[in-house]
Amino acid sequence: MLKSFVSGRWVEPRGDGVSIEDAVTGDEIARASADGIDVPAALTYGRRHGGQALGALSFHERAGLLKALGLFLRDHRAELYELSAHAGATLADARTDVDGGIGVLLSYASRAVRELPDDTVILDGPLEPLGRGGQFVAQHVLTSRPGLVVQINAYNFPVWGPLEKLAPALLAGLPTLIKPATPTAYLTVRLVELLLEAGVLPEGALQLLCGSGVGLLDHLGGQDAVEFTGSAATARQLAAHPSVLSRRVRFQAETDSLNCSILGPDAIPGTPEFDLFIAQLVAEMTAKAGQKCTAIRRALVPRDHMGSVVEATKARLAAVVVGHPADPSVTMGPLVSRAHRDGVRSAVASLRRAGRLVAGDPDAAAVLGADPERGAFLAPLLLVADDPSRPEPHEVEAFGPVSTVMGYTHVDDAIQLAARGRGSLAGSVVTADGGFARAVVRGLAPWHGRILVLDRDAAGESTGHGSPLPMLVHGGPGRAGGGEELGGMRSVRRHLQRTAVQASPRLLAQVTDPPATSGATE
Ligand code: NAP
Repeated sequence: MLKSFVSGRWVEPRGDGVSIEDAVTGDEIARASADGIDVPAALTYGRRHGGQALGALSFHERAGLLKALGLFLRDHRAELYELSAHAGATLADARTDVDGGIGVLLSYASRAVRELPDDTVILDGPLEPLGRGGQFVAQHVLTSRPGLVVQINAYNFPVWGPLEKLAPALLAGLPTLIKPATPTAYLTVRLVELLLEAGVLPEGALQLLCGSGVGLLDHLGGQDAVEFTGSAATARQLAAHPSVLSRRVRFQAETDSLNCSILGPDAIPGTPEFDLFIAQLVAEMTAKAGQKCTAIRRALVPRDHMGSVVEATKARLAAVVVGHPADPSVTMGPLVSRAHRDGVRSAVASLRRAGRLVAGDPDAAAVLGADPERGAFLAPLLLVADDPSRPEPHEVEAFGPVSTVMGYTHVDDAIQLAARGRGSLAGSVVTADGGFARAVVRGLAPWHGRILVLDRDAAGESTGHGSPLPMLVHGGPGRAGGGEELGGMRSVRRHLQRTAVQASPRLLAQVTDPPATSGATE
């Protein structure tokens, strides 16, 4: 039974909880429950102890905590890799999750020292003169709130997900309570144990609640924030919670999206861009068995090249080795659970109403080193939508190794098809033609949080379609949730309260000066 870390100690819940299965063997690996955990007390404890201690530290001191946590995790990452195999992650998948998360901590730590003051208050914008005689002025200030951040995470990034939310919150002086998704909560438990073992966090700065999160929002108020990652359906439910609607709990959501990748008309078979497009599509379908919120779900290609794209993609998919994620020759592990595989199969059945399956069998996979039925294995599945005007490929998310190829006739058609996803986290256009790239980026930008333009020049250094980066926006409009995580210090600032302070220049200077010179105790 997974324990929760609340009010300063590890607590075992009551009851039997729900079973968590090993993705590879189907055996029960843990159980999770939140029964009997005193959530209101934990929230109060976090605000009182963690909030006060973090609030007293300067931004640079908080950055020091992040750096220490990142370095400690780096020394212990091997055991997180090993544990990730139970969730179906190959070593490469585990590195994306674990090293990616550590990278966020270290990146935020170094940027905070460069970009934020060694103080507890940020002066935001210029001094605004308000009177003719110069004796009445104003300044916006950003200060920490006496609240707490509740993270509700998706199952697919049990390490990176909590860390990418922790970094900005901690810099903003806010304590955090992590609610991991149940299917991979055992990994987040080990992560939290390690973060606590690092021995640098003030008491109450970090708590963990395993098991169901139902009712968690009931106890939050206007100084608190909920940072949600998961499906659009759960996000809708939480956004309508009375705490959000009436008490104005700040709510941010990162949800699913039907990300697209567009092949330029110049990128005909035989060009480097054509090969880059195919390689990227297959990488996005198979990394983490397609369980990535940024994965390419829709491949938009010039109608004339549909056949070549399908053949080249099939040839690459044929080289994918599905099997036990701990086997180094395996390139794609199982999905997180058999229940989740059932969900993907039923989404694929919906997609097939609009298209035909051209690679893979949803009901059979050749599996290396494991039992295909006991584990949650699924072959990569490629579909072709001959009629891209049908709704399914633009609306149904199959959260697995699944992608649909569809044809476009001209650039405006490609932009309109992309927009039918109603808002995405990441899009890409693979072309060496500046005019095409310009039209696509300008057309797609209002619908996307991040757009990659990929050509032969950028290919060697490109971080890829699906990789969120700490310094860039991660989030997207509309269906993607409307949130904006990461993106450098802007994500710290949005946790802070912005207040306009009006005063005489003399008093304003005393109010806003760093502590050493403010004379606050005089
Ligand atoms: P999910 O079923 O929506 O669950 C997400 C989280 O919400 C879990 O921690 C879940 O807890 C919790 N939850 C569910 N109902 C709740 C309630 N009433 N109150 C409080 N918490 C509640 O999503 P998932 O299956 O874990 O993740 C897959 C989805 O996440 C996909 O659709 C994917 O596209 C999306 N995703 C998006 C991003 C992004 O950055 N935009 C990243 C990763 C994944 P339990 O597990 O205990 O039910």
